[in-house]
Amino acid sequence: MSHVHDIFDKIKQRDPAQPEFLQAAWEVIETLEPVIERNPHMRELAVLERILEPERMILFRVPWMDDTGQVQVNRGMRVQFNSALGPYKGGLRFHPSVTLSIIKFLGFEQIFKNALTGRPIGGGKGGSDFDPKGKSDGEVMRFCQSFMTELFRHIGANVDVPAGDIGVGGREIGFLYGQYKRLSRQWEGVLTGKGQGWGGSLIRPEATGYGLVYFVREMLKARGEAIDGRTTVISGSGNVAQYAAEKILDYGGTVVTMSDSSGFIHDPEGIDRAKLDWIMDLKNVRRGRIREYVKEHPGATFHEGKRPWSVPCEIALPCATQNEIDLEDAETLVNNGCFAVAEGANMPSTPRAIEVYEAGRIAYGPGKAANAGGVATSALEMTQNAQFDRWERERVDAELDRIMTEIHAQCADAAAEFGHEGDLFVGANIAGFLKVANAMLDQGVV
Ligand code: NDP
Repeated sequence: MSHVHDIFDKIKQRDPAQPEFLQAAWEVIETLEPVIERNPHMRELAVLERILEPERMILFRVPWMDDTGQVQVNRGMRVQFNSALGPYKGGLRFHPSVTLSIIKFLGFEQIFKNALTGRPIGGGKGGSDFDPKGKSDGEVMRFCQSFMTELFRHIGANVDVPAGDIGVGGREIGFLYGQYKRLSRQWEGVLTGKGQGWGGSLIRPEATGYGLVYFVREMLKARGEAIDGRTTVISGSGNVAQYAAEKILDYGGTVVTMSDSSGFIHDPEGIDRAKLDWIMDLKNVRRGRIREYVKEHPGATFHEGKRPWSVPCEIALPCATQNEIDLEDAETLVNNGCFAVAEGANMPSTPRAIEVYEAGRIAYGPGKAANAGGVATSALEMTQNAQFDRWERERVDAELDRIMTEIHAQCADAAAEFGHEGDLFVGANIAGFLKVANAMLDQGVV
């Protein structure tokens, strides 16, 4: 049995009930065989085994009182996966589907993504099975305060710096930060995605979506293509989806779908800037559902319980959640003429879907590279906080663009070096892994 199969068997035995983590782990290690062959000392020093086991996992109870006076109990967690390159860094997800398996998969991906950004940040992730949807601001605040009352002792500006993810936006970061400050008596850059008036970086809200489209621009450029005049299908209608749509419009592309967990809307005339503003107001201010779009925009249709991949397009940007494109969806995309898929979400494509992209030789930007713009800009926020400084919008955006261009180049170079020309999936894994593995080797057996 090969070295990576042997290791994978061991982690399966250790955590048999963690399907998302096992999926993410296999997707990375299956591509690392040639790297280990070229670097036999990594095998002797058990680098893969160590990288697959989190440095620390914290699980805790989060009790809070709802508006009726009833006490509710959720589970909180933080997985501090790897600190070889810097303080743990990664978002918090509040969603009823959250399990330790999901947080471990996200934390594991985060290690390599953060390495690709070139910034000094390690990998971590956290969250809770709390669902902010349908809760009042007061309930969300009480939950966030209770969550931080335990988490605060495990984080710090040079220890672990959480950010947002699904269900954790500006409102939640504000409540979490307020409680951290109250408990620790420190005004420090301990969270990113903070408000613009109190330590947040300009462009951070836009960064994952904008960065995704900068990455797409580079992927297409390498094939002599461009976004201009092309049709894009986007899933999700949250933070990442909204700003990906905005940047596609900036580059002259057309966006024809957006979705949420109830279904998707299809607007064949295209979601233009005014319509996108309407969606942003619906989702961010009124906290409504995407189906409401069709009442206001009669040319559009709503498809209950469906995902948007059957709508013909040239570019597909999954920006909602994990495993949202399966084998059949991928085949439909390719058969309909889609030639580029780039992942705003983390692990939105199943392993079988990825096989379809590879067989169809379409451009494929895996999440750990394509959506790294968010965490990269979080790292820029940390730099600004540490310097007690605030950079102009143009400066942050230019730096984001530079980082995404560089990530694309690193992935392409690593893929070519290991005989997988043009395969950014393999390239991202290898380039990210080598940075972390070499740092771990330098730091001894820890
Ligand atoms: P938001 O909470 O802002 O938006 C999430 C969107 O995805 C919503 O439209 C939501 O619909 C939809 N969604 C969530 N869960 C499901 C589901 N199970 N099935 C169908 N639709 C679903 O989150 P973000 O935009 O921040 O995150 C989206 C993705 O991007 C996630 O995979 C996240 O990990 C990834 N990501 C985010 C980064 C960031 O900076 N925010 C950075 C890198 C990656 P509904 O409202 O109905 O729940």
